[in-house]
Amino acid sequence: MTFLFQASLPQVRARLVEVFSSIQGEGVLVGHRQIFVRTYGCNLRCTYCDSPETLKESGAPRFCRVEQVPGTGQFLPVPNPVDADTLTGLLQQYLSEPHHSVSVTGGEPLLQARFLAAWLPAVRAMGLRTFLETNGLLPEHLQRVIDWIDVVSMDFKAPSAIGMDLESVRERHRRFLEIARTTSVYVKMVVTPGTTDMEVDAAIDLIASVDAAIPLILQPVTPFGHERIPVPPARLIALQARANRQLKEVRVIPQTHKVMHLL
Ligand code: SF4
Repeated sequence: MTFLFQASLPQVRARLVEVFSSIQGEGVLVGHRQIFVRTYGCNLRCTYCDSPETLKESGAPRFCRVEQVPGTGQFLPVPNPVDADTLTGLLQQYLSEPHHSVSVTGGEPLLQARFLAAWLPAVRAMGLRTFLETNGLLPEHLQRVIDWIDVVSMDFKAPSAIGMDLESVRERHRRFLEIARTTSVYVKMVVTPGTTDMEVDAAIDLIASVDAAIPLILQPVTPFGHERIPVPPARLIALQARANRQLKEVRVIPQTHKVMHLL
């Protein structure tokens, strides 16, 4: 791996929760090795959220935890907020092994779009691809960083899981997907026992109206937090069949990193 060392980045800083190297457990890149940068803060409060440390009302943690050896759970504390040069340096410790990409996840990473717009070019300069995991509801923020994103994993949020009305969710998601499609994008929808046919149809119709070839990943909820009950198998099969009538690529993929006890 060759590095292109750059001059210092502008002194933008981000509030982070953790940095680590692991195996992607969700979506179309499942199984790929990635470096994960988890940002603090989210504009939503989903019933199934499995990253509660990003939502603490008391504010960002004083320290971002940085795993020293992948998979060991041994962390070094780095004071928050973290500046762009420091974060670039933290990533380099993992690069003795090949990685598919850097996953910027959260929380909602686009809440820190200004930082990402300044920092992501340094990731590309290290020879790494960039992968954005987002709730798909901040199109104006996406516009600021889209030139630096190789793959967008965009959630379609079921209104029943986030307490918003379907019309406003649909319109924001539509604007987001129109921007995201200028790079590689797929849509992921977490399915809970409470997800309705109307909500799934809204996701299907949205994708079909933009480009039916955009993959849809139906992700059965991992029982956690407020969501204790799994989705029945027959329901998953029926929803996939429903989506397959309009879309070209529909897959059902659970959170595999939970099975392997990976971060
Ligand atoms: S968008 Fe993601 S991080 Fe934010 S509350 Fe929902 S599941 Fe949690």
